[in-house]
Amino acid sequence: MKKFILALALSFAISQQTDAHVDPNVQVSLRYSPSLQLQVPVTRDLQVHVEEEIFPEGSQEKKFQAALALLETVLNSSQFQMKVLSYVSENGSRGFANARLWKAGSPLSSEQVKQAIYGGDEKTIPQTPHEMNLNLMVRNCRAHQRVTPWCRTVVGSTTPHTSKWITLNWKFYSRFEVPEMVENIVHEWLHLIGFLHGEENLNEEVPYVVGAIAGEVARELMTRQP
Ligand SMILES: [Zn+2]
Repeated sequence: MKKFILALALSFAISQQTDAHVDPNVQVSLRYSPSLQLQVPVTRDLQVHVEEEIFPEGSQEKKFQAALALLETVLNSSQFQMKVLSYVSENGSRGFANARLWKAGSPLSSEQVKQAIYGGDEKTIPQTPHEMNLNLMVRNCRAHQRVTPWCRTVVGSTTPHTSKWITLNWKFYSRFEVPEMVENIVHEWLHLIGFLHGEENLNEEVPYVVGAIAGEVARELMTRQP
């Protein structure tokens, strides 16, 4: 019964926002290939630019600012890159499900996924290589809207072909801690550079997995530096 409800919730959310939702019911398992704990050339050239942000003042805003401040360190860390390169999907092989840019071309290898991330090529913000450009807006659903699928089940969303904006759902951001914010912002931004959702194995796709890796690294960094 639980599985059925999950499937139903998923299909509902997918039908509403094909390429761009993030569903809190998608459970990601992070597994890494031990053979890849090797010397990975570390890329340190992704710059985070927060162009615009709309977020309510208060204690959550402090966490939100901390998340934004942490992003560049997380994404340029060797831990993050190692984890992206060595992530292993459920079938035991290294790599991601549906790892194609804009749903076109051949699937990308883990190395190519890493390259695309550091390329930072947002469709609606061209000619800004190696930049993660962020335009973030929180939406607080009003009482009469709260029954809609977006308000109930979507953490954040984008329309990556046509907009530079990432919309975040206050229902979740009102209780998120910093690592969860990092995870979701990275997930949504990956849509803006062309990693969209397919119809199955969402929990092994680039946005979910790389977002979860970023959240995991953020948590590690924060426990190391209290
Ligand atoms: Zn998504």
